[in-house]
Amino acid sequence: MKKKCSVCCKVKSIKEFGVSHRRDKAISSNCLKCYRNRARKSRQASRRRLLGAYSKGKCICACCGESILEFLILDHIGGNKTRVALGHQIRHKDGEKKFRITRELRIAGYPHKDKLRVLCANCNMATTNGRICPHKCKVQHIEET
Ligand SMILES: [Zn+2]
Ligand SMILES: [Zn+2]
Ligand SMILES: [Zn+2]
Repeated sequence: MKKKCSVCCKVKSIKEFGVSHRRDKAISSNCLKCYRNRARKSRQASRRRLLGAYSKGKCICACCGESILEFLILDHIGGNKTRVALGHQIRHKDGEKKFRITRELRIAGYPHKDKLRVLCANCNMATTNGRICPHKCKVQHIEET
């Protein structure tokens, strides 16, 4: 059995289509490839919205200006204390929880702008436990000499 994908318009074997999670178990109207593509794009869009909200719409690292979306994360200013205060403790690899926070922030209209900021993975790692990012140290160093 073959079916035409409503997104890429290619005729593919029915095996290349997903099955709806609804009770009717209908065959999805777009192929798995398009389905994944769309899921990835919508994930990216919601990440961009989230990060943009906490970086004045710029989607860049507050420290070094890194703009590659994949490197950027939401950082809790003040570290773990802030995380706990906002109820955002995330265990690593706990994707679902992370998603829940993203959704909660979105529904609440992206609150706590004074407690959250966007950092890249490098700057985030460098500033854990309240340390100062080497980017900032470098600037200070230059100013001192
Ligand atoms: Zn398709
Ligand atoms: Zn950075
Ligand atoms: Zn930095």
